[in-house]
Amino acid sequence: MLQSISMEKALEIFQEYASTVGMEEIAITDSFERILAEDIVAGFPLPPFSRSPLDGYALCAADTAGADELSPASLRVSQTIYAGEMPAGPLLSGETAAVTTGAPLPEGCDTVIKFEAISRVGDTITISSALRAGDNVVPRGEDIDRGEKVLERGSNITPAAVGLLASLGLQRVKVFKKPRVAVISTGDELLDLGEPLRPGKIYNSNLHPLSAQIKESGGIPFPIGAIPDEKTAIAAALKSALMEYDMIITTGGASVGGKDLVKEAIVLSGANTLFWKVGMKPGTPAVCGEKDGKLIVGLSGNPSAAMITFIMLVRPILRTMAGKRSTNLPVVSAEMEEPFRKKSCQRRLLRAIVTWKNGAYHAIPAGILSPGALKSMVACNALIDIPAGHGPLQRGEKVSAVLLPALYCL
Ligand code: AMP
Ligand code: MG
Repeated sequence: MLQSISMEKALEIFQEYASTVGMEEIAITDSFERILAEDIVAGFPLPPFSRSPLDGYALCAADTAGADELSPASLRVSQTIYAGEMPAGPLLSGETAAVTTGAPLPEGCDTVIKFEAISRVGDTITISSALRAGDNVVPRGEDIDRGEKVLERGSNITPAAVGLLASLGLQRVKVFKKPRVAVISTGDELLDLGEPLRPGKIYNSNLHPLSAQIKESGGIPFPIGAIPDEKTAIAAALKSALMEYDMIITTGGASVGGKDLVKEAIVLSGANTLFWKVGMKPGTPAVCGEKDGKLIVGLSGNPSAAMITFIMLVRPILRTMAGKRSTNLPVVSAEMEEPFRKKSCQRRLLRAIVTWKNGAYHAIPAGILSPGALKSMVACNALIDIPAGHGPLQRGEKVSAVLLPALYCL
């Protein structure tokens, strides 16, 4: 078992377990936020026919050659084409077709003039300028060619991507299955929601932020509930979760206290311990086990420590397991607007509020920063990444800040 490893080493070890968990076919109405498991190739061009981008008159530009205010061109309106209809026939020389936005253009037309730019009397329109072929025409396939790869396997299905799938007439798509992640809280002090608060006890809150984080990472959380600090009970919970789920996250009992039994329970469940303790504060007492390619990640019970360890270590692997291509959070350089007076013996991830002002990022620490304090975790939108051995942060000092995903921010 490795002990006291760097965050990079922990991430590297996790990468060995980063395979996706299969595919499924779903309706595109359910596909927003899912990850494509297939390339999407256009079966036909978009638009499927040349069309008018405005309400006006379709004509052949050559019929307006030399036209000006003094000698305007006159054309006969031979047909009207509404969006959804087909032209009655080709345009002959000297003819024009009234068209609405989205109407297919007739053969023989190479330009469209807007309704407001002509004058019409009866079936004759007059145009007082020479037009250029190609103006105001949306050619067939302008946006997408037939056979073009429009979306790649591994892409996020965004609102616009759903639109693209629908424009191509697709009703179903193949997406990666979401990894199923068990969340087990450990601790004799934990009460379920709904129980009356008793002396010495606290509510099992960790289950809920972690479940939300699992969802944000593309997984499905399965909250198992609270297990007392008993080695055999924790091992039994791990053992049954290993049979059901793709990954297991525990909180509590990962440190060095008399009732910190998750490490031993991992062994008792038949899993191998990969590492214990990671060089990061908060979150040092993380422990990791593995059985048959499935990871057990044991996080500190302290609510903010558990969340931060999840962000830095678990989120990247879970996103990869979910088929997502981007797993890294953006890191920006920010200027401290207030000092932070503590030294950082270990690498520290400091909850901070980062704002963009006057062309630069500025950071302030987000309140009470002990690993169990949650208010600062709610307030923060970034984690300042302070290297091990760094002294206090001065006002004006430049720091690296990891920006949290939008769904983490108020
Ligand atoms: P531990 O990691 O077991 O040493 O716990 C560290 C701190 O986190 C203690 O104050 C625990 O009471 C608290 N804690 C442990 N599990 C949870 C939980 N599920 N929800 C909220 N706080 C917890
Ligand atoms: Mg405990």
